[in-house]
Amino acid sequence: MTYDQAFDGLPVNCPTHIKERQRLITVKYYSFDNKIHQGQLVIDVDLVEDIEFAFEEALKEEFPINSVIPISYESFRRNGRWDDDLSMEANNSSAFNYRTITGGQVLSMHARGRAIDINPMQNPYIRGRITLPANSVYNPEIEGTLTDDNVIVRTLVSRGWSWGGNWTALKDYQHLEKE
Ligand SMILES: [Zn+2]
Repeated sequence: MTYDQAFDGLPVNCPTHIKERQRLITVKYYSFDNKIHQGQLVIDVDLVEDIEFAFEEALKEEFPINSVIPISYESFRRNGRWDDDLSMEANNSSAFNYRTITGGQVLSMHARGRAIDINPMQNPYIRGRITLPANSVYNPEIEGTLTDDNVIVRTLVSRGWSWGGNWTALKDYQHLEKE
């Protein structure tokens, strides 16, 4: 998609200074069909290099990623609005999304393009009895699952990112962010 398409449907309350920092980048990734694909991400300008490097490393190690499509994609819209649940249910990996945190009112790090979610179906968000997306299970034995020694987690954590699998109050295995 084009830069304009990547922001089609952007919530009207998204501040201009946040939008202006976002970059639409193209990444290559290895997928579950054992082929190399091309996808796109919207991410803060400061983090482009980290993300490009992490995807290069993941490709080298053939870590499978299901799909990488910006949240503005028509299949991730509900009533015209960007819908993270639809993206998660599609096992899609994405970064920028002007939204609040799951189950809360404060802005997510995704709202500033400073977080990325990878393979949500293999890497659920788990808080108490809530697991998202529906029917997802965390099992490090399964391909596409993030762990401490996964190539993406290692690469980004070494560059100052925080992985939601290391959090204690809740687990957000799909999520990596950098302040
Ligand atoms: Zn996330």
